[in-house]
Amino acid sequence: TKAFSVLGIPVHVMANYPAWLLECLKQGKGTHVVTLNAEMTMQAERNGSLAKVIQDADLVIPDGAGVVLYLRWLLWQKVQRCPGIELAETLLRDLGQKQPDAKVFFYGGAPGVAAKAAEFCQQRIPGLTITGTHSGYHSKQEEEQLRQTLSQLQPQVIFVGLGVPRQELWIAENRHLCPHAIWIGVGGSFDIWSG
Ligand code: UDP
Repeated sequence: TKAFSVLGIPVHVMANYPAWLLECLKQGKGTHVVTLNAEMTMQAERNGSLAKVIQDADLVIPDGAGVVLYLRWLLWQKVQRCPGIELAETLLRDLGQKQPDAKVFFYGGAPGVAAKAAEFCQQRIPGLTITGTHSGYHSKQEEEQLRQTLSQLQPQVIFVGLGVPRQELWIAENRHLCPHAIWIGVGGSFDIWSG
């Protein structure tokens, strides 16, 4: 995948991100996906750890309008904006259709929110299997349990909705637990799906 620099951050431009991710899943290629907007690039300027994590991510997609405008100016071609929540929804739909055996995990949000979001998605997407959920507010001890659960369960797709930059840092620190999984920071998506 070719990456273009947006204020020093490599952004990948491709026609079909979910298709690329399904291919990673088939090949068991662990992937960290970052959906980049302007606010995040500004945060990365101040926060060296966040900048490093984004640099190391396998796929950085242009989520925000500002990032897309900049890329259009840079490349002189049409660049499709891909909002994180839309990527997440398309990926879930594709999984239901093409990879119904894939295990999906939702982590983040207030107590009960991820579980409600999972129920909502499973109702709407035939074939989708969400094997586990965990709230984003917990003790250190509960977090350790979550790590053990992820290790044992080995979900292939893990959505982390802790907000920026917490979710990006958490994924970078913990992705070794499920080295073959697709990890995506989804911000407040669970709040939207849970209604
Ligand atoms: N959140 C969480 N644990 C925390 C802090 C935040 O699970 O310790 C969740 C919060 O409940 C919300 C999400 O993280 O669902 C942040 O959503 P927001 O839309 O603010 O994220 P953004 O994408 O704008 O960073």
